[in-house]
Amino acid sequence: MRQTEIRERLTRAAARWQAQGGETAALRRELAERGQRPWAIVVACSDSRVIPEQIFDAGPGELFVIRVAGNVLDRHQLGSIEYAAAHLHTRLILLLGHTGCGAVSAALSGGGEGYIAYITDEILSAIGEERDPLRACEANVRRGLARLRADFAAHPEIPTAELELCGAIYDLADGSLRWLED
Ligand SMILES: [Zn+2]
Repeated sequence: MRQTEIRERLTRAAARWQAQGGETAALRRELAERGQRPWAIVVACSDSRVIPEQIFDAGPGELFVIRVAGNVLDRHQLGSIEYAAAHLHTRLILLLGHTGCGAVSAALSGGGEGYIAYITDEILSAIGEERDPLRACEANVRRGLARLRADFAAHPEIPTAELELCGAIYDLADGSLRWLED
């Protein structure tokens, strides 16, 4: 697709969305007026095949989604999570890794260059000596969970005892979700 076509596609799609009436329009208005109360925070990879709202059958106002390549956590992501947990009162955080993750593969290949290195360095420190892509992906999720546990262990605005932290791996090929046990 050429850039002009892409722009047109974006414009048409946005117009179709805006033109939707009925329940969608009513829900949009209600959420705009009353504010959002998402029931889960999901940290997922930016991979275009991993779409949390589709996987979890959620519409507007339901999921507070943070997407970043390799589903890594740094200050911006932690700030987003903190906002949702402290101010929107969302009490479950899901870190979602996935099979065939390009960021994990890049880390396993020695890491990326430029800004990508910020991501692959984080993954490399999570996976250590692990060389199996799936286990590396799991280790990356587990490291994120450990960081969240440590960073939000004593938070003035978030009742950490009420906070549920969980990790899962999404399989790109068959669409299945596998929870990671503690
Ligand atoms: Zn990925």
